[in-house]
Amino acid sequence: MGADVAKLLTALVRDVPDYPSPGILFKDITPVLADPGAFAAVVDALVDKHHAGAGDPADSGGNVGNIDKVVGIEARGFILAAPVAYHLGAGFVPMRKKGKLPYATFQSSYDLEYGSATIEVHRDAFQPGERVLVVDDVLATGGTAAAAIDLIEQCGAQLAGLSFLLELTALSGRQKLPGADIHTLLRV
Ligand code: AMP
Repeated sequence: MGADVAKLLTALVRDVPDYPSPGILFKDITPVLADPGAFAAVVDALVDKHHAGAGDPADSGGNVGNIDKVVGIEARGFILAAPVAYHLGAGFVPMRKKGKLPYATFQSSYDLEYGSATIEVHRDAFQPGERVLVVDDVLATGGTAAAAIDLIEQCGAQLAGLSFLLELTALSGRQKLPGADIHTLLRV
């Protein structure tokens, strides 16, 4: 399964140079989403890792266990996190760019590979102590994921793990996420 998904991602993820700004090599996952078999394989691979009892000693942190909520980070994270939440029997929680959520929020600001940003979550998105999985398309510098962890902690919930389709290893995102259980389907 792991090798097959990595092959699919290698074949289908499209590199777009100089988007959204000069010098950035953008990893476009829309061809993966548009391919029914690849989309299903990717969602299944994300889900398999986090079913109770799953655990890959090759990943940092080991067994993850039961998940109460799955976070999707705007916007591509929504597309992946929602089906993962459905399959895990967990709730879905959106983390959105500043000003997009209607109710009272917590906020966290961070630097991106291109620019800076603030993300928010509803203050009542998690119950204290809930176990939360974060899903996004790309782990780049790790700033977004670190902000997501900050928001989970502001809510009194706990991080169970972080899952990504792609990890851009040259940007060393893991260094911003010490101690986190990180699962990536393809490292490039
Ligand atoms: P970072 O906070 O640097 O880890 O960036 C992660 C977020 O920015 C994710 O939500 C990605 O969707 C997006 N992102 C950053 N760099 C890239 C890239 N080279 N290609 C595609 N998406 C990216």
